[in-house]
Amino acid sequence: FFRSLEQYGISLNRPQLAAVRHNHGPALTLAGAGSGKTSVLVCRTAYLLAVRRVQPQHILLMTFSKKAADEMRGRIRSLPALNPQAANGVEARTFHSFCLQLLRGRGYRQGILGETGQKHIFFKRLMRELMLKNDYEPETLLAQLSAIKLQMINVSDLPSATTEERELKLLFTRYEQWKKDMDKLDYDDLLLEAYKLLKDDEALLAALQNRFHYVMIDEFQDTNQVQYVLVQMLADKHRNLMVVGDDDQTIYSFNGAKNDYILNFEHQYPGAVTYVLDINYRSTSTIVGLGNAIIQYNKLRKEKTLLAVKPKGVNPAYARLKSTQEEALLIVDTVANQVNAGKRAYGDFAVLFRTASSSRALTELLLTKELPFIDFGDGQLFYDQWAIKPLLAHLRLVQDRRNFDAMETLLPSLYVNREQAMAFIWNQDKQRAKKWPLIHLLEFPQLKEFQKDKIKERIKLIKSLTDLKPAAAIMQLRQAFYDQFLETSKKHEMTEHKEGLKEVLDEFESAAGIYDTIEAFLAYIDDITDKHAALQKLQKHEHNRSAISLMSIHKSKGLEFPVVFVIGASEGILPHSSALAADKHSDRTYIQTGEDSLAEALEEERRLAYVAVTRAQEELYISSPALYRGKPAELSRFIRSAFSNGEEEDADSESVLAWLCTSSTCQVWQRIITYEDSQTETRSCPLCEAPMEQGTKILPKKKK
Ligand code: ATP
Ligand code: MG
Repeated sequence: FFRSLEQYGISLNRPQLAAVRHNHGPALTLAGAGSGKTSVLVCRTAYLLAVRRVQPQHILLMTFSKKAADEMRGRIRSLPALNPQAANGVEARTFHSFCLQLLRGRGYRQGILGETGQKHIFFKRLMRELMLKNDYEPETLLAQLSAIKLQMINVSDLPSATTEERELKLLFTRYEQWKKDMDKLDYDDLLLEAYKLLKDDEALLAALQNRFHYVMIDEFQDTNQVQYVLVQMLADKHRNLMVVGDDDQTIYSFNGAKNDYILNFEHQYPGAVTYVLDINYRSTSTIVGLGNAIIQYNKLRKEKTLLAVKPKGVNPAYARLKSTQEEALLIVDTVANQVNAGKRAYGDFAVLFRTASSSRALTELLLTKELPFIDFGDGQLFYDQWAIKPLLAHLRLVQDRRNFDAMETLLPSLYVNREQAMAFIWNQDKQRAKKWPLIHLLEFPQLKEFQKDKIKERIKLIKSLTDLKPAAAIMQLRQAFYDQFLETSKKHEMTEHKEGLKEVLDEFESAAGIYDTIEAFLAYIDDITDKHAALQKLQKHEHNRSAISLMSIHKSKGLEFPVVFVIGASEGILPHSSALAADKHSDRTYIQTGEDSLAEALEEERRLAYVAVTRAQEELYISSPALYRGKPAELSRFIRSAFSNGEEEDADSESVLAWLCTSSTCQVWQRIITYEDSQTETRSCPLCEAPMEQGTKILPKKKK
């Protein structure tokens, strides 16, 4: 068996072999990025099938994302010495699809509420219906609700001391009720319901325990409580549980994942055998070195250093750019150069980012230039977000007062029923068309005084925006709609959802900044929207391999790409501002769902940086905009510290050694070289092939 693997190009190292041959009982593989953990699971599956003659239906493999599960199945199927049927019989699934199948098999017929549907209900319906005092940022709220549920806390047990707590408890309760009434389950419910089902149905649990002789879990470091309990239950009879993971890659703790599960595994499963893999097969040695250099500063970790087997390759590069626009241009150029030279295909490239809004400029440039890319996010265009839409509707009314769609969008903010009010306006307008149909609304029956005032106020506001530049108009609108909420809260009350809202609004304002007229800005958005729609249609048919991948660092876990760009490596983006505000550590989230201190938040950000850089196989580009939404943003401390060869924050890291291209037209990407790597060699620039020279790059001064 192993010889056939070797012929196929896979020669496992000693600890990998041991793990693959692992016989009975619990086992843990705790190892760094790219060290072959997933490969061990894949090969062990093949080994069990081909050598131990285990029936495929007795094997259960679980992982986190659909993409990872697809890849795993593909890898198993491609192995030699296996008949395809056997490979197909193995259950290799995500937790969610496993649970869904279980529920369906038991006659659960509920519809599944995806992320988009969730947001829609939460924010189009419930938040408006409840007329909450505060504005909340939907993604963050959903993440919080998720964290609460996945820690198996009942919504009814949430605290309700402050207004905010009461409002959110109400919102969450209504949401849960709505789902019940509508016969729907969201993703978290899938896990919870499956758990309840197994807890209550002993026969079913016993059948599953009998069926799965071997249970293997990938990315175990990001297991949440429900998943952990599910795994325990399923593996309880045979106890052939093998988990693999890397505590340095825990990046879902905001969602209830606990590092403890992996670090305490040996304690929970006495007699568990531990396998340690320490050779990275994925990346060139300089990339591995940079990964090590970044993660070493975390304190809450099991110490381990990865060794590299691949040659040095080209050193990671980094660039400090003026803005995200410039960053986008540079990346598009770099990709285009390599593709045009026939060196690579679009599918070799991935761009990773911390938050979706930090990828706005790049997404839009790719759309404008009509380059093929796949967005692994929610597929939503920046301007379609809940916070932006009403502001955009106002801008559209400034441009064209008879824009009925825009009018409809802003009705809820005037506290009138959308359908009724719209029908009324249409009807009035048919009888005597007004230049400005919104004025009809003043005659809407049974309006209260405060509503009339609101409408008049709004008309005045829109009028006042007429001659403004788009950025200035957005500033006015922000002030009218959000700033009071954002500012009145005292600083220490600035919670994460407000931070998220602010981020989106700042980005919107900064996007408008380059346009002189509202009309031009709106025309640009329309163009981008059309291109985005066209691309989405195309993506349904096209293959992933022919497009650049765009995804959040969170989504990139477990994946690898020949060339990786990590964008937005600036303070405030990565690490994210929500982990930085020094006075926020006590109330980073609205409801405390676990230990959460500033130091821990920063360590999670650092793990994100580590995950990001360790996705690259051959080339790594890190870029850092110096201005982010109009404000100065320093180079990310994670990148800076990687050069500092010592303590992180106090190190004199004002200058780093770098390779500079000697061509006068191409001095953008700086090759990063680490301190160990200081011998002079002649290299050529990956962009223009001109020789490079070793130089010192001065980094901007650090604030004390
Ligand atoms: P991550 O922590 O990112 O999930 P991982 O530990 O799961 O990484 P894998 O994805 O299994 O690592 O492996 C990384 C790369 O190394 C893959 O391309 C895999 O094919 C390759 N690889 C793993 N083991 C070996 C080996 N013994 N010889 C050659 N290549 C290997
Ligand atoms: Mg893996």
